[in-house]
Amino acid sequence: HIGPLQADVADAEVNAGVVLFFRDLTSARRLEAMRADFVANASHELRTPLASLLGFVETLQGPARDDAKARERFLDIMKGQAQRMKRLIDDLLSLSRIEMRAHLSPTQTVDLAAIASQMVETLSPLAKERGVAIQATLPDRPVLVLGDRDELLRVTENLIENAVKYGESGGRVDVEVVRTGETVPQVVFSVQDYGPGIAPEHLPRLTERFYRVDVAHSRDKGGTGLGLAIVKHIVNRHRGHLDIASEPGQGARFTVRFPEAGPRS
Ligand code: ADP
Repeated sequence: HIGPLQADVADAEVNAGVVLFFRDLTSARRLEAMRADFVANASHELRTPLASLLGFVETLQGPARDDAKARERFLDIMKGQAQRMKRLIDDLLSLSRIEMRAHLSPTQTVDLAAIASQMVETLSPLAKERGVAIQATLPDRPVLVLGDRDELLRVTENLIENAVKYGESGGRVDVEVVRTGETVPQVVFSVQDYGPGIAPEHLPRLTERFYRVDVAHSRDKGGTGLGLAIVKHIVNRHRGHLDIASEPGQGARFTVRFPEAGPRS
């Protein structure tokens, strides 16, 4: 005989099972919808420059065949469109490679200060071109994390490049690497710009694939809309944390924290 209390418990268990099952189903459906959405977005992003390329090829074969000046101009535009497709495909490949390794923890010990320093140097010409001064504050001793060198270079590249691209009106970008945390030692990499910043409603969605505050502006700057999604995936694989803060009109700050590797000296 099952008493009223036991019956309630039994019912609750059955119900919990049903609820869990439904939840699994909806999350599977959501995942499937996200995947379909991603394929649709990627196809659209690739189709746009391709359509433009085809249009120019037809013009060059037809009306502009004998116009040397138009030919030069069109070829320049076509080159730009082909470069955009290449960037997009490179970013898509990076993303899928990182996703395939998502369950593997990186095992190399790398110096994040050296990585940041190398990237500041690499991006200095671009910054100079845009009238931006990169100010780097880096520790003079190695700051170690367990990581994949190329992936961490990519994180620093995407964040500093975005700060230069979107924050150029601020004229300055600060890059910093510091060690924090007494009980759990952490290494913090941050990039601050003084440009227009990002309105709060966009902040939670910035790391979604193809999410851009202003699509035309991002395209003008050569963006694919995948940079921050790549950053987020790499940071997750490194058991790190990405934080984005912005005061519109005052700039944006991107902060990445990783657990520090090795004994602290
Ligand atoms: P994109 O290739 O468009 O730069 P990202 O994924 O790197 O793609 O960034 C997504 C969007 O976030 C950008 O299109 C831009 O709107 C916004 N964004 C990123 N970094 C900054 C920044 N430092 N200041 C203002 N907006 C930014």
